[in-house]
Amino acid sequence: MKTASRILGTAAFLAGYQCQDSPVYGAERRGAAVVAFTRIDDEPILERGTISDPDLIVVADETLLADPGSGVLAGQPSAAAVFLNCQAPGPLVERYGIRPRAHAFDVTGRTLQVLGRASALSAGLAAAAARMAGIVPLATFEGAMREEFEHLGVSQEDIEKNLQVAREVFAALPAVEFRGAAAAAPGAIVQVALHDALRGAPSVLHPGSSELQPTGAWRVERPVIDRDMCTRCGLCFVQCPDGAIALDAEGYPIIDYDHCKGCMICRQVCPVEAIAREAETRAW
Ligand code: SF4
Ligand code: SF4
Repeated sequence: MKTASRILGTAAFLAGYQCQDSPVYGAERRGAAVVAFTRIDDEPILERGTISDPDLIVVADETLLADPGSGVLAGQPSAAAVFLNCQAPGPLVERYGIRPRAHAFDVTGRTLQVLGRASALSAGLAAAAARMAGIVPLATFEGAMREEFEHLGVSQEDIEKNLQVAREVFAALPAVEFRGAAAAAPGAIVQVALHDALRGAPSVLHPGSSELQPTGAWRVERPVIDRDMCTRCGLCFVQCPDGAIALDAEGYPIIDYDHCKGCMICRQVCPVEAIAREAETRAW
């Protein structure tokens, strides 16, 4: 989401707009939920801070919809549209009472097919937002993508694959008419509510709250331990940042998949490579 908001902001800038993009992290942990904001305007943008009344909401991970603390749909009253990263919006619209017009594209599935991993979603998500905002030509968007990915050191081969996904997203989605900033109350001072720690993204800041959150739903990759290879050194148990690994009576590690968020730190620290990585597009 951070990179997607940045690509979108850069694309808008290259198209001649004023823009601002900013991510907000909760706990700095790989795999944790992130929210990012992009403002685009013809005029200089003087407002700072998070956006409480968005024109467009991009939901990168549908599992966040099931977490009432995520606040992912908090901007619904002002939004003209919602983009859902899923195969079809209908069931989610019904289940979660999504009111703005919903459009969908399976960015995760397509990214898995083209790039071979589900965690590289920024191109598809940025393309969805740029296309639905209807203010950035595809060529300009591609220029922004190249600029941002080259800055991040992404290989040319992967940049081309990301471009392929972005073009497909552009072709599949419509432009949406937004109410625009002019329709918002002029001069209004926006007070952004401070949620308590249990509600703040990613909702795991409060001591002991991790257990209350189904952080397993964040996972796009699943660590799988091979007991035959495991030497019971306990390193994965010690290093897991979520305490999602316990030891059984014989000292073998057991992963709590309800809370393992798929950061793969356990896999990195395992000295005998006893932990495999499996792609996971559904975490429940
Ligand atoms: S079990 Fe492994 S992948 Fe899961 S949260 Fe712990 S360190 Fe990360
Ligand atoms: S780090 Fe590897 S070898 Fe050590 S306990 Fe975990 S899975 Fe077993």
